[in-house]
Amino acid sequence: MKGLSGMTQQSSLKELVQRGESQTLEFKKSLSLQREGLETLCAMVNSDLAGGTVVFGVEENGTVCGIEEGNLDTAQRSLSQAIRNKFDPPLIVQMEVEELNGEKVLAISAKRSRDVPYHEYDGRAWIRQGSDKRRLSLAEKQQLTGRRNRDSHPGPWRCDRCGSWVGALHSFEISNEGMKKTYKCGCGGEFWPAT
Ligand SMILES: [Zn+2]
Repeated sequence: MKGLSGMTQQSSLKELVQRGESQTLEFKKSLSLQREGLETLCAMVNSDLAGGTVVFGVEENGTVCGIEEGNLDTAQRSLSQAIRNKFDPPLIVQMEVEELNGEKVLAISAKRSRDVPYHEYDGRAWIRQGSDKRRLSLAEKQQLTGRRNRDSHPGPWRCDRCGSWVGALHSFEISNEGMKKTYKCGCGGEFWPAT
């Protein structure tokens, strides 16, 4: 058994593809599905798992069909451009091209940073639901902002390093910018909303 943390980093793309589509993995058979792929990535990072991978060049059932090689450079440029211009707030995406069963596949992976409640792609916020995705409603966006924004969260809190729980945070830092809540734990870690 593999540990849950760092699963994506530890397993090769081949192992990932063999495991099949999941909450955090989706296949797109062609690079012409760029928009759908990036919306799916947006939906994955917005879910509570906060990350995922989209692999182009693999059919839905896991068959490796490979990407159209002739325009790989153009496609990579177009992907990077869409990622740079259309994610708000900006999303850092890892892109890799690998050969599987003699065919080239392109994988993009991303993680949502814990201080971002949700990302939008091209003006729309998506969320993963099972192996599908749907748009977030305004009420859901407000709810996520409340739940994921540290400054307005009522607690309880949990340290990301030592795992200790606290019901409320009463630690403030005073600087010339005024008073600011701090989230530092004695162990050197930081407190994050526990629920
Ligand atoms: Zn701690």
